Amino acid sequence: MYNVHSMKAEEFICHDEVMASLEYADANKDNIELIDSIISKAKERKGLSHREASVLLACDIPEKVQELYELAEQIKKDFYGNRIVMFAPLYLSNYCVNGCVYCPYHIKNRHMARKKLTQEEVAREVTALQDMGHKRLAIEAGEDPVNNPIEYILECIDTIYKVKHKNGAIRRVNVNIAATTEENYRKLKDAGIGTYILFQETYHKESYEKLHPTGPKHDYAYHTEAMDRAMNAGIDDVGLGVLFGLELYRYEYCALLMHAEHLEAVFGVGPHTISVPRIKHADDIDPSAFDNAISDEIFCKIAALIRIAVPYTGMIISTRESEAVRENIIRLGVSQISGGSRTSVGGYCEDERPHDTEQFDVSDTRSLDDVVNWLMRIGYIPSFCTACYREGRTGDRFMSLCKSGQIQNCCHPNALMTLREYLNDYASDDTKRIGNELIKKELANISNGKVREICRDNLIKIDEGMRDFRF
Ligand code: SAM
Repeated sequence: MYNVHSMKAEEFICHDEVMASLEYADANKDNIELIDSIISKAKERKGLSHREASVLLACDIPEKVQELYELAEQIKKDFYGNRIVMFAPLYLSNYCVNGCVYCPYHIKNRHMARKKLTQEEVAREVTALQDMGHKRLAIEAGEDPVNNPIEYILECIDTIYKVKHKNGAIRRVNVNIAATTEENYRKLKDAGIGTYILFQETYHKESYEKLHPTGPKHDYAYHTEAMDRAMNAGIDDVGLGVLFGLELYRYEYCALLMHAEHLEAVFGVGPHTISVPRIKHADDIDPSAFDNAISDEIFCKIAALIRIAVPYTGMIISTRESEAVRENIIRLGVSQISGGSRTSVGGYCEDERPHDTEQFDVSDTRSLDDVVNWLMRIGYIPSFCTACYREGRTGDRFMSLCKSGQIQNCCHPNALMTLREYLNDYASDDTKRIGNELIKKELANISNGKVREICRDNLIKIDEGMRDFRF
């Protein structure tokens, strides 16, 4: 039976509740009165329930869909302004004991070269990432208790934080590793991680078991309950995600929101981020073998409706998507993007993009400088900010600040200061020129006079060589 407070996966992601919600959504997809009332509620910017949001996803009345897009765009502007936080993935190891049928790291893939970075190699990769200008990483690894035990991951995190090359530093390490024990989550928390990210892949239990036929990841409940263990262990910021293409998107969208509702009900704080990856071609993986691929249009609709349903949750889009799709979806609600990414183990130290250990093909292959330049040209402020978690603004503290609107007084100046660091240390001449003009213009948009003055002073100090200012 459905119970949002239950700690059992099959009760907080109750299949019958998802099915009933989808039926309700189907029955009401042309019910203008209901749709209008849900849109009015969404305009209060306090979010929607999984049932309400599912009705909007099912609705395909063009004027209503247009209204939803406009609302998503407005909510995005209100909560996240025009800032986009930048990050890069860092692949530590592709050793994996699981049998995930969509991932080339699956255990049966005997021809893929297996590689695990030594600590010296981690330091070299991090140096290369710092030289690009990155300050925030998401570490990625296959699941292999022998080759990639938690001690290995912890050692890598320690190495990453210790590398200080020129003016560079990695100030936030987010972690995307397989579901693990509460004890291991406590160790990750103690190692100073930012967000713990784990994609559910699919919330549909039967499909999940087929798509993960072997290995520890086969256990649906263990995987689905991972965020509860992580939050019990004190990790405040967790990142959800669905791998779109595996199952019916409407099922996933509804269940994803049920997961967010569950975390909010049990821990008083919902997910920090939601990622929206789609299956891509990779080594022995052919995306057309999966029946549930979604069009770019549906993909954008899902993103807009995530923005509307959980306004305080950040949304992440990776380089799996092309420049064109990224431009559309950023406008509709994305707050974080990766740039200059390589999805192979050790890829950042190579001149040419290596393909031998790649987890998936990257669509947006531009350099970080190109992405930063492009973002500014299309009206955004690329931000390398990591202040919230370093100031202890995580979990409910972050959410309450966000809900009060006060976060703008931190995020906006922090974005400008970290962008200036990037421009001075790493940018091409053209990016630098556009960036400095942007900072000048955006400085005037800081409404609090005192904050504006401090920010202006700090920008001068950054030009003089000082680093790492934050509100
Ligand atoms: N092994 C860990 C786990 O099981 O959660 C870490 C995650 S893996 C390195 C990162 C994510 O990449 C997976 O959770 C999956 O959603 C995604 N992924 C795997 N194969 C993919 C593919 N062919 N195309 C796009 N994304 C893929």
